[in-house]
Amino acid sequence: MKQYDYLIVGAGLYGAVFAQQAVKKGKKVLVIDKRPNIAGNVYTEDIEKIHVHKYGAHIFHTNNKKVWNYITQFAEFNRFTNSPVANYKGELYSLPFNMYTFNKMWGVITPEEAQAKIEEQKKEAGITEPKNLEEQAISLVGTDIYEKLIKGYTQKQWGRPCTELPSFIIKRLPVRLTFDNNYFNALYQGIPVGGYTKMVANMLGDVEVRLDTDYFEHKEELNQLADKVVYTGAVDAYFDYKLGELEYRSVRFETEVLDKPNFQGNAAVNYTDAQTPWTRIIEHKWFEFGKDDEGNDIPKTVISREYSSEWKPGDEPYYPVNDEKNGKLYEEYKKLADQEENVIFGGRLGEYKYYDMDAVIAAALEMCEKELED
Ligand SMILES: Cc1cc2nc3c(=O)[nH]c(=O)nc-3n(C[C@H](O)[C@H](O)[C@H](O)COP(=O)(O)OP(=O)(O)OC[C@H]3O[C@@H](n4cnc5c(N)ncnc54)[C@H](O)[C@@H]3O)c2cc1C
Repeated sequence: MKQYDYLIVGAGLYGAVFAQQAVKKGKKVLVIDKRPNIAGNVYTEDIEKIHVHKYGAHIFHTNNKKVWNYITQFAEFNRFTNSPVANYKGELYSLPFNMYTFNKMWGVITPEEAQAKIEEQKKEAGITEPKNLEEQAISLVGTDIYEKLIKGYTQKQWGRPCTELPSFIIKRLPVRLTFDNNYFNALYQGIPVGGYTKMVANMLGDVEVRLDTDYFEHKEELNQLADKVVYTGAVDAYFDYKLGELEYRSVRFETEVLDKPNFQGNAAVNYTDAQTPWTRIIEHKWFEFGKDDEGNDIPKTVISREYSSEWKPGDEPYYPVNDEKNGKLYEEYKKLADQEENVIFGGRLGEYKYYDMDAVIAAALEMCEKELED
């Protein structure tokens, strides 16, 4: 008899869902994480009474009612709606592209006028078979929107000019002929009141959690403790990179506390010109809509500038690279993972997959249904 039924490696959302469900089924679980905190990449840290999204801004949005009903057991969500603003050389535009954007860009008033302007620009460009991302974007939304709102931002994100990026990166560019700044087309959207860390702590409840504990540094002894392992770390690391390293795209954050109550008046401002080195600035207090509408009872504010950066081994892995080379390498690791007895690989690193929060919760719940059958 081992001490635990499951050893869960990683206290992120996947690990927390699995732990919560397993305990509910009467299983004994131990959760470990190599970081000094729970919550993985959704971790929010309190600075000046503001919940700072340390690993990038996280906005919960879903159309999956099952996931929404599940997650709202552990947190109340505020009614934050993601409405980013674009700053192009000091000109401000609403995102996603909608009637406010078109009115500011061209002075048009009606949807027909906006549509006509876009069509006119598309026609003038005369692109029938887009050969690169630039041509693809212009063929979808015309020159002005491309030049002011897409070109510089995309170039910074990918570290290459749009003319050198393949057209398939942009399949469609939603254009809204309505006055609707809501970025996500999701039925449910918001930010957990009190921050994501508190929400994950509520999910974990009384589960034993050992932080600052790297699985690989104590693998033998930890494996002795449990019948099964749920592993949510990087799949290539699990196999000691024996087939090579999977690549990621990275983001670098520069966080600053400012001695003023309001820096930019919005949670997210995207800098869409090529000259500004950062891609966007997040002002964290504005995620907490409802707590303090004016933000003035907290005299300070915390901002994070985001820079797209090339990932190199040892950096924090953020976005998996969905190209052929990495896809094939992952398939090889997946074969090894499938042969690993008593280990479940899950989550964004374990499955080398970009998962939104709702999708990772859905995946973990599905795994629990299979794994924790009575
Ligand atoms: C910049 C950015 C912004 C995002 N914004 C959004 C958003 O707005 N909305 C949305 O829905 N989703 C967003 N996401 C996606 C969201 O972050 C993921 O869905 C979620 O974090 C996945 O949870 P996870 O448990 O799979 O992984 P993680 O949160 O990464 O958890 C894995 C945990 O495993 C631990 N671990 C790894 N290796 C070991 C080891 N060897 N030993 C011990 N512990 C280990 C790690 O420390 C980590 O805590 C964003 C992602 C990024 C990168």
